[in-house]
Amino acid sequence: MQKVKDKYFKTLIPAVDIQAKVTEIANLLNTDYADKNPLLIGVLNGSFIFLSDLFKCMKIDCEVTFMRVSSYESLRSTGKVTQIIGLKEDISNRHVLIVEDIVDTGQTLVNVKEQLAKLKPASLKVVTLLNKPEAMLKPLPLDYVGFKIKNDFVIGYGLDYDGLGRNLPDICVLAD
Ligand code: 5GP
Repeated sequence: MQKVKDKYFKTLIPAVDIQAKVTEIANLLNTDYADKNPLLIGVLNGSFIFLSDLFKCMKIDCEVTFMRVSSYESLRSTGKVTQIIGLKEDISNRHVLIVEDIVDTGQTLVNVKEQLAKLKPASLKVVTLLNKPEAMLKPLPLDYVGFKIKNDFVIGYGLDYDGLGRNLPDICVLAD
């Protein structure tokens, strides 16, 4: 049991299982994107640890950048999605992989995909470490998914609770 701010969390996915899954996803990408020089775009802040581990397992030519959206506050999604910020790269004709920490309602991703699609990438696919299928508002193609989890609040491995808990090596879930 781990106390973060005023709440207790317990391990849901241990670090060793996360690393195995990250390697598995990277291997798929190494095959699917060989000779495509994909651009991996991390959605900040939550994806930075996942993307960093994933990137280290990539054996093909590939590039990385980050962008930001703000749509989530504290324990629940606000549903309000603002525009994407901070993407300086020209993504036209590039093979783009959006890298997310978690797809919850899917609102963020719908918005990000819409905006990136306008910039005319050669292809646009999604990699997410976590997905909460029960929370998704409408079906959305997720091309590479690490773990499907229940509709519970999780932290660790980049995910926060009010800014804290991102540094936990395991993915942890709110204990009741
Ligand atoms: P969506 O738009 O899919 O509802 O939410 C996406 C964003 O909400 C994620 O990128 C993440 O920042 C945040 N989020 C969704 N579920 C959780 C969760 O269980 N824990 C944390 N820490 N953030 C979450």
